Amino acid sequence: MKKAIEKVLVVNSGSSSLKYQLFDMKSEKRLAKGLVERIGAGGPANHAEALKQVVADLGNPKDIDAIGHRVLHGAEVFKDSVKVDAKVMAKLKKLVKFGPLHMPANLGGIEACQKIFKGVGNVAVFDTAFHQTMPDCAAMYAIDEKYYKKMGIRKYGFHGTSHKFITQEAAKLLKKPLSKVNLVTCHLGNGSSLAAVKGGECVDTSMGLTPLAGLVMGTRCGDIDAAAVLSIMEEEKKTPAEMDKLLNKQSGLQAISGVAGGDMRDICTKAAQGCKKAELALEMWAYRVALYIGAYNTVVGGADAIILTGGIGENSAEGRERVVNRLGALGIKLDKKVNAKTRGVVATISTKDSKIPVIVLPTNEELMIAKDTVRILG
Ligand code: ADP
Repeated sequence: MKKAIEKVLVVNSGSSSLKYQLFDMKSEKRLAKGLVERIGAGGPANHAEALKQVVADLGNPKDIDAIGHRVLHGAEVFKDSVKVDAKVMAKLKKLVKFGPLHMPANLGGIEACQKIFKGVGNVAVFDTAFHQTMPDCAAMYAIDEKYYKKMGIRKYGFHGTSHKFITQEAAKLLKKPLSKVNLVTCHLGNGSSLAAVKGGECVDTSMGLTPLAGLVMGTRCGDIDAAAVLSIMEEEKKTPAEMDKLLNKQSGLQAISGVAGGDMRDICTKAAQGCKKAELALEMWAYRVALYIGAYNTVVGGADAIILTGGIGENSAEGRERVVNRLGALGIKLDKKVNAKTRGVVATISTKDSKIPVIVLPTNEELMIAKDTVRILG
């Protein structure tokens, strides 16, 4: 008989760092977590060396049953998590073009694990997979189809592991079967996205071909008229790489407020001190979140709940208040008292008589990866 999978290592291998968590799957409790930094930049030379450090940190464990890996992009090839073998790895390597910055590091982490943990199964869990159920009307861009056929230009969406986790948790909380639950899930962090979930499946999401689309984020602009991008490029003679940096790293809350990094806490502090730019940044941010909530409530045919998660969704009472105050037309009112004291825990922050409950629900992407790893290998 096959041994049950008990200990799962979750690896998030980035370009210069490797984060890991070790789970006991009987209790779903985390046993250890850690971070190896400066890979290829003064620290370990590569991901295999970084992983050797992890093994040492964990005390040379012999009992790891499986390894789950966070992988940025599965494109249309991987609609679900997958066990990595040679064939799958060959397919994954063809997807590097969808994430030239992240994918080589993600795959480097898998290859390092294959070498170091011999005989242990590796599962790739994709940020995009949960969104693969979107219908064409939501996923396609209104441009010549040849760009989809030739280059794969379409909406993919990200944060899928988080949206999937909070969808499953919300269904339990609402005591509904997963296949019957309609939600608007809001992952509000430094990077942010919403998903429209109908019958437990994603039918739309606010990020697009890349994580640049949708909401106003820490340093990303979110939705913008494509012609504005062209105008700036033409006027300032910017290359695509320079424009990419402007839109991804120098825009969003940071650009509007003038607060470096675009951290929500700093911007709230500035706004409270009377800074008009910080105030505008918060209002633009909240406006866009509320706009998408309204749209996605329509898309799912009426949500059973609106779920807030991510660093801001879980912790920022002021951020949540600014969003929920804009949802009056949906029959939603904020319970100010509950909202003010909710930080990093499950709580309903709308009043009891609200037509749709607004629920704070902490996400756990690593646990979702571990659970998927067990499901795929089990
Ligand atoms: P990432 O996308 O990098 O994973 P997080 O989900 O960690 O981001 O979210 C980071 C954001 O959450 C920041 O804007 C930060 O200000 C905000 N945040 C974290 N903790 C708090 C807090 N206690 N109060 C208000 N905002 C918070």
